[in-house]
Amino acid sequence: MFEDSLQELDRRHLIHPVSNFREHQKKGVTVLKSADGVWLTDIKGNRLLDAFAGLWCVNVGYGQQSIVDVAAKQMSELPYATGYFGFGSVPAIELAAKLVELTPSSLEHVYFTLGGSDAVESAIRYITYYHEATGQHQKKHYIALDRGYHGSLTTGAGLTALRVFHENFRVPLPTQHHISCPYLYRSPFQNDPDGLIAASVKELTDKVESLGAENVAAFFCEPVVGSGGVIVPPKGWLKAMENTCRSLGILFVVDEVITGLGRTGPLFACESEDVKPDLLTMAKGLTSGYVPMGAVMMSDRIYSGIADGPRVSSIVGHGQTYSAHPVSAAVGLEVIRLYTEGGILANAQSVAPYFEAGLTALKDHPLVGDTRQKGLLGAVELVADKETKRPFDPALKLSERIGSIGYENGLVFRAFSDNILGFAPALTYTARNFEELFQRLQKTLDHVHDLAAVRMAM
Ligand code: PMP
Repeated sequence: MFEDSLQELDRRHLIHPVSNFREHQKKGVTVLKSADGVWLTDIKGNRLLDAFAGLWCVNVGYGQQSIVDVAAKQMSELPYATGYFGFGSVPAIELAAKLVELTPSSLEHVYFTLGGSDAVESAIRYITYYHEATGQHQKKHYIALDRGYHGSLTTGAGLTALRVFHENFRVPLPTQHHISCPYLYRSPFQNDPDGLIAASVKELTDKVESLGAENVAAFFCEPVVGSGGVIVPPKGWLKAMENTCRSLGILFVVDEVITGLGRTGPLFACESEDVKPDLLTMAKGLTSGYVPMGAVMMSDRIYSGIADGPRVSSIVGHGQTYSAHPVSAAVGLEVIRLYTEGGILANAQSVAPYFEAGLTALKDHPLVGDTRQKGLLGAVELVADKETKRPFDPALKLSERIGSIGYENGLVFRAFSDNILGFAPALTYTARNFEELFQRLQKTLDHVHDLAAVRMAM
């Protein structure tokens, strides 16, 4: 009864992110009630294994009491502190210093946001200011990856290259461009990773040259393309992109909103290729989803260019009421302590082979065309024909059905529209949790394979 009235209120009044409004009004949602460790409980009492860490954010798992304690303490001591007109707070300062210590050595300054989209938006605004302040007025063009995701705010949504974020929103802007994403499985270079890297370098170079390097501000990329289908580039790709940006004289920006904070193995994915970006964005794992927070970090070159250029006015007019929120910052510090001293990062690294083995074993399933993984970030790509890699007809709306079959089997993962299943288990997963995940996933895939519509499409 209570559930029915909640459902009704949700359908009538709550707009859900990235949803079909009318479909939502018809179908409603699964209302989640509580969580513990890696398990979710919905309002009907169903227990679900969370294989997506909420929205690839709850890296430390649910129910970490020390985070709750730190947040409560900060709320009673100082629930809010402005960063405007000469004020600050202890946890914000400490977290900024901590991040500078933990990220690539190029990054020395931090601006805190509420999440990833506004971290990207802030990066773009600072880049614009930097180029204006240093007299590079022509540098207005941006390049990002096809299938990349850089948030859904006004400018970043144009760097994002997914159809539903563009349609009817009047983006991308004429100054926003995309090059192919390093999608090994669907490229002619499937067995030649170096060939794919060389092709990416050439495409970026050609794009910059066609626009004129003096007109290009920056190249944005994710170390692993996340929302575009967990596309893992070959090793060496990120470094090659950095080198190309350096030789072309454009800024290199790495969006680590998903990959940051232990998701791919090291604390930041940049570490695995010794990459030193000019700017880096993060969010999600920074506070592990317990409270909202994101950040953009920048090199001293960008910071000093902004600080010392011949400015239009003396104030850099970029800010938000909740930038460097003390409760979020206190949570961020505790979350980082859990990753490092608390052993969560080490756990993630030690269980990653179970994840890899489980995904690799699925390659034999008749529905599975490809599996890919880096650390605890992974995907299973379903195809109608393994030989030709023919995808299922989108008219089948298979991904929604897969999501609900997963739910019936007590498993939560992300079914992207092109039948790529995304997985981002909490970094606290145990070997036993992976066994449970793959049992439930196998059952789910077998069930999908038995659907008459799927049989007919294969
Ligand atoms: N960048 C990347 C790489 C992301 O994956 C996301 C979110 N999935 C964002 C930016 C936007 O973050 P948010 O949803 O917190 O605004």
